[in-house]
Amino acid sequence: MDHDPSHPHKLPVVATEAPQALKPPVDPATLVHRQLRRDRFWAHIPAYAQVDEATFADHKWQSKHTITNPDKLLAAVQSLVTSEFYADVAAGFAEAPMSIRVSPYLLSLIDWTNPYEDPLRIQFIPVRSRLLPDHPKLGLDSLGERADAPTPGLTHRYVDKALFLALDTCPVYCRFCTRSYAVGVDTPHVEKYTLRVNEDRWHRAFAYIASRPEIEDIVISGGDAYNLRPQQLREIGEALLSIDHIRRMRFATKGPAVMPQKLLTDHEWVDALTSVVEKGRKLGKDVMLHTHFNHPREITGITQDAIQVLFSRGIFVRNQSVLIRGVNDSTEVMGLLLRRLGYINVHPYYVYIHDMVQGVEDMRTTVQAGLEIEKQLRGSTAGFNTPMFVMDAPGGGGKRDAHSFDHYDRVTGVSVYSAPSVKPGQLFYYFDPIDRLPKEGQERWAIPAEHDRMIAEAKAAALAGKKSRS
Ligand SMILES: *Cc1c(COP(=O)(O)O)cnc(C)c1O
Ligand code: SF4
Repeated sequence: MDHDPSHPHKLPVVATEAPQALKPPVDPATLVHRQLRRDRFWAHIPAYAQVDEATFADHKWQSKHTITNPDKLLAAVQSLVTSEFYADVAAGFAEAPMSIRVSPYLLSLIDWTNPYEDPLRIQFIPVRSRLLPDHPKLGLDSLGERADAPTPGLTHRYVDKALFLALDTCPVYCRFCTRSYAVGVDTPHVEKYTLRVNEDRWHRAFAYIASRPEIEDIVISGGDAYNLRPQQLREIGEALLSIDHIRRMRFATKGPAVMPQKLLTDHEWVDALTSVVEKGRKLGKDVMLHTHFNHPREITGITQDAIQVLFSRGIFVRNQSVLIRGVNDSTEVMGLLLRRLGYINVHPYYVYIHDMVQGVEDMRTTVQAGLEIEKQLRGSTAGFNTPMFVMDAPGGGGKRDAHSFDHYDRVTGVSVYSAPSVKPGQLFYYFDPIDRLPKEGQERWAIPAEHDRMIAEAKAAALAGKKSRS
């Protein structure tokens, strides 16, 4: 007789009556996370109306038709947008700290009847009228990645892991990119610190990694690993696998979320990834893909097929989302995203509280909003499909459980974190967006002389709390 597997020590229960349904069955029509679009959803875009399925599924077609400026956007969507909206976009492009790149796949998933509120539009296409002034405490490279870099493009912040920025391009550019200091081409507002593909720079990074026996884990990011040529992907993968002490690697790419077609039609790239994963497996080393879905609508039937290509080859995928205002800052949307990711075998790993990035204050929300969504969602699905909500502490503290603040003042929006295993003895401050604070907090931030006082108060409270706990 079987024991209840979830309670190995419990005695088997002998049923004396018919089992009682404790939970009413769920109407299958409400399981919307399983309803993945498989229609010709791109046909509503005038420029793609005649595009057939095979063409839309071709990653080369997707790359070639990627939108990089307002004129191309207008040529694609034509009369779907008003001239006022178009002017707003053109002004938004001119002010953006990030280059703009939007794949036809994403463009087709935007609801053009309501572009202002659309969660995909918000992520990729800036509009001037919605921009907010930056928080006074915000700076470029807020994570201090360059300060922790022993060689250009390699950040060694944690003891046993390092972040390797292999290149500076991506298949699309996200407005809210944390690496707007390096990723994409120069914009009128930001001169980039370049991390081009450069074999010499790569070899210096590999040499550093080889010289540090404590490093076991490498994140290969950028930019985006999707934009590595197959040969480059192999070269990086094999160079790192050949270092004895490297045990784990993750290739980071937003690709599956924004251009899943590549996994279906770029066989050379998928084969290169597969070969690195298989070589790793033979050596007893773990090689995974990390991706970045933010909204359930980004997941279609094409995505499901694309992830299945990887899954069938034993390549596992984890997801890191960013909590973004108007995109996924509700329990309903975030819950649907998690269930949909689980359904296609992508493991939700992290949800980041939005970093303090220049020019995207309209996309940030409060730490409290993240904590509330986490509380509502935990328990709704498997624990391994329930992400940790993390704060990447500004100034190089690294990732912290968002709940682990030493102090959080919801009125001033100042939260204080410490990171004993990363930067012992230091405090790190995060600032909620001012327009989301209660009136009293907004009024204090309107007075420059109050800024340092609010921070000093938060610091004192954090230190007092630490003392009383120890
Ligand atoms: C995120 C990150 C890593 C990986 O951290 P995990 O918590 O293991 O996902 C490594 N190095 C840097 C600099 C990072 O930002
Ligand atoms: S894909 Fe990643 S690295 Fe590239 S712009 Fe988006 S967030 Fe930045």
